[in-house]
Amino acid sequence: MPGLSRFVLLTAMAIEMTTTRTPLRERLVIGNWKMHGNLADNAKLLAALRPATTATTSAQLAVCVPFPYLAQAAEALKGSSVSWGAQDISVQKQGAFTGEVSASMLKDFGCTWALVGHSERRSMHAETDQLVADKAQAALAAGLIPVVCVGESLAERDAGQAISVIQRQLAPVLALGAEAVNKLVVAYEPVWAIGTGRTATPEQAQEVHAAIRAALQAIGAGNVQILYGGSVKAANAASLFSMPDIDGALVGGAALVADEFLAIAA
Ligand code: PEP
Repeated sequence: MPGLSRFVLLTAMAIEMTTTRTPLRERLVIGNWKMHGNLADNAKLLAALRPATTATTSAQLAVCVPFPYLAQAAEALKGSSVSWGAQDISVQKQGAFTGEVSASMLKDFGCTWALVGHSERRSMHAETDQLVADKAQAALAAGLIPVVCVGESLAERDAGQAISVIQRQLAPVLALGAEAVNKLVVAYEPVWAIGTGRTATPEQAQEVHAAIRAALQAIGAGNVQILYGGSVKAANAASLFSMPDIDGALVGGAALVADEFLAIAA
């Protein structure tokens, strides 16, 4: 092998060996607005996010907004690097399902993301692990990227069950197979850290992320992005993102404040 090619090959191998993150695992920061917002406040927030690019924030940015404001987000973010999505979808394709919104309706006007299985949906709307997996499949079938949220309660953590709960929640998702799973994003959101101001330590989060990564790897989907969520703010983002298996964040409260959200991404 000529000297230069050999050098290039060896350098590439060295980079491969020392890099924990592959190009597929770009940093991703998604804001979950939950049931907050109005036209006027949204317009200001979206206008402040609009100029963000991966060059200015070093992360891909997205917002998941309430259904009535999806069109506003689509319009305000058109032509920008910031993508947008919904906070839930129906598991059904179409039909007599009053109040539901299907994945294909969202895809129809340019939606990229759909959160599925957020803990607030699991607890307040009795969404089961299987339903969440079915919603992920419905999103994928319509060409949306599902962000599958998993997370244990405080009682489950205290009982030493954090990882087994996550494995149980993920099982029907993994059963969708590698091809499907490679197209989705997982968000680990310990329920006790959501909206409480109490964040998992980077080490606590990394332990669970590593277990999720191992489960994904076992089916050939080891490069799926795994986001951490739960009281992420600018002050704790860097230490969380320094962990090898944390690829970004799903941000609730702090996503409503443009400077804070952009600082998390930066
Ligand atoms: C969330 O709702 O997904 C979330 C992580 O909320 P917060 O950042 O407010 O804890």
